[in-house]
This record gives sequence, structure tokens and C-alpha cells, in this order.
Amino acid sequence: MSIEIQNITKTFGRYTALRGVSFTVPDGELVALLGPSGSGKTTLLRIIAGLEVPDDAGGTIRFNGEDVTGHSVGRRAVGFVFQHYALFRHMTVFENIAFGLKVRPRASRPSRLQIHDKVQELLRLIQLEGIENRYPSQLSGGQRQRVALARVLAIEPKVLLLDEPFGALDAKVRQSLCRWLRKLHDEIHVTSVFVTHDQEEALELADRIVVMNKGRIEQVGAPDEVFHHSANAFVMDFLGSVNLFHGRIENGEAVFESRSLDQPDGRRAKFFVRPHDLEVETRFNGKSSIRAQVARVLSAGPLVKLELTTETGEPANAEMSHEEFAAKRIGVGRQVFISPRDARVFTEDYSI
Ligand code: ADP
Ligand code: MG
Repeated sequence: MSIEIQNITKTFGRYTALRGVSFTVPDGELVALLGPSGSGKTTLLRIIAGLEVPDDAGGTIRFNGEDVTGHSVGRRAVGFVFQHYALFRHMTVFENIAFGLKVRPRASRPSRLQIHDKVQELLRLIQLEGIENRYPSQLSGGQRQRVALARVLAIEPKVLLLDEPFGALDAKVRQSLCRWLRKLHDEIHVTSVFVTHDQEEALELADRIVVMNKGRIEQVGAPDEVFHHSANAFVMDFLGSVNLFHGRIENGEAVFESRSLDQPDGRRAKFFVRPHDLEVETRFNGKSSIRAQVARVLSAGPLVKLELTTETGEPANAEMSHEEFAAKRIGVGRQVFISPRDARVFTEDYSI
């Protein structure tokens, strides 16, 4: 089931939460809505679910081409998982998962045996076989969210909507649940929209990422595309740590150099460089570079992280392998020359 979102605007009083948002979730894909808090992700998800009504400005939501903008939540057949999905506390895991099937009208209600088989199949899918008689209070946070997901999947939704479902869990559990959800999706292929403010979660999980900011879409693309070919400075900054350097434009080319803020506006360029793309040399090698001093070395990790201070007093971050770090004999207080191995130049006004 594809979801086509076209020109959706939503205002709350005088506040505009969504401004003409359009994108498509292709059938069977897992799409992440990624953006800072307040960017409109939850509002958009609720509009897709039918829990919220968009402004009457000609915007539409279509499922497989059919206009569902006026359809109720029930008619849309979506499954919704929230950050704090309250399971029924007085019901066992089995009863929680079976709930949506047991409350169906008699004519469409599966038999006891069918419900039993379905719950067993879902327990296998969420890798929690054998704990169907436990109560929610006897589960970990991660297990509870998996049960919440199974409960939603039991009703075989055409679309699965997840609003920061792992947001309340600690980093390690969140990462393993993310991988698990990705595998689960590869098995069941239900069209899914996953809301998160965590870029690593989105990059790891999604087929496609919709980057949102202040009620607008900044970019839509595959994880690789939005990370390596960010459409603008906001996306590049939001998707990972980045250094900002001021350079200048000369004969149509961006020149990397310090003290360029005194250039007239039209000749200024902003260089955005990821820490691993910042080359650190201990000797001046003729390349256009910026002089800096090593302020701090963080070597506990797969890469060595260097905190630098440029000659103009700006902070900068670089990352390198332990081998390179040892070979270059870099230490705190050492003078170095930094230059971008790879940079994105944006001329728009944006500061980080
Ligand atoms: P996100 O999920 O990206 O954090 P939301 O969609 O929850 O963002 O909210 C976007 C903006 O809309 C926020 O500034 C929020 O305060 C506002 N907002 C959301 N729901 C309502 C509401 N029911 N009434 C008034 N303002 C709302
Ligand atoms: Mg939200």
C-alpha cells in the first residue's frame, strides 16, 4: 500500500506546524521522518493515521491512489505504535496480542484456534516465544515495545506508523531493536513510516529518509544520499557532526582560507567538513590550509578524535585512525595545518 502525501498544511491557532508537505511512501518501504523536536513529525504521522485533520487547503492523503483524506481512523486500517504504548496491564502478553482479534464482530472474528496460532506466529516474529503468560510489568522496556508492535500487527494493518517507538529505551537496546525492526520489516514488508529525531536510527533503519525542519521538508532520499549528498547546510548539520569554516569565492571557485569574514557577502563561502574529512598535517605542504592547535585528544574509541582551535580561535574537530595518529606524532599543544579532503560549500545563510 503506497502512501501519497500531497500539499499538507496544518495550523494550530496561529501556529503553522506543517507547510505544504508532499512526499510518497512507496508500497512496502520503510520510510523515516527525521527532524528536530517540534519540526512537525508527529503531526504529520497523526494526519496520515486520520487522528488529525489537515487544513482545508486542498491537501490530500492517498492510500494506493485512493483519496482517504476524509476517512476515519477505523476505515484507514493503520497500525500505530507510540513511544509509550500502554499495554493492558491486567492482561498477559497473549491476551494483549490477541485483543484486536477478540474484539472483532462475530462474523469476522477468527476462531479460538486461529487466534492461538496467530499469536504464536507473532510471538515467533517478535522473538518472544514462551513468555505469553507474563504480564507487562514482568517485561523489560524493549520487550514491551515488541509486544506493542505484535499487538498492532495482529490486526494486519495496511500501513504501520511508529512514533519514536524506542525513544524511551537506552541507547544499546534502541540500537538492537532498530536492527531487529529492520529485519522484521524485510520479512513482512508492510508499508511503514517511522518517526525519529535520532539521525543514526534513521540512517540505520530506513529505505528512505524524509528530513523535516520547521514544518517543511528539507530533503527526501536514501540514507546514503542524504548523508553524502545533503541538499543544504541544515541537512548536513543534522545528519552528523560537521565543521563550519568561512572561506571566499575567487574566480567562481571556493578558496579554503582563514580570515575570510571580511569578504563582501557575495564573495563569502561556507565550507562544511565532516571530522573524518578534515586532513591534519604537521607540516605546511603548500596546500591551502588553516593553521590550528591541538587542544584535546580523545583516543578511547575506534578513531582518534582531535579537538582543535584554529588560528582565528574557532573550534574544529577531526578524526583519524590510531595508525595515522601515531605516525604523525600528534599531541596536545602541537601546531597543525588542516584542510578539507572533502567539503560541501553552501553560500546560503546558515550557522552552526
Ligand atoms: P515533532 O513530533 O516533530 O516534535 P509535533 O508535530 O509534535 O513535532 O509538533 C509540531 C509543532 O506543532 C510544535 O511546535 C507543537 O507545539 C505544535 N503542536 C502540535 N500539536 C499541537 C496541538 N494539538 N495544539 C497546538 N500546537 C500543537
Ligand atoms: Mg513527536
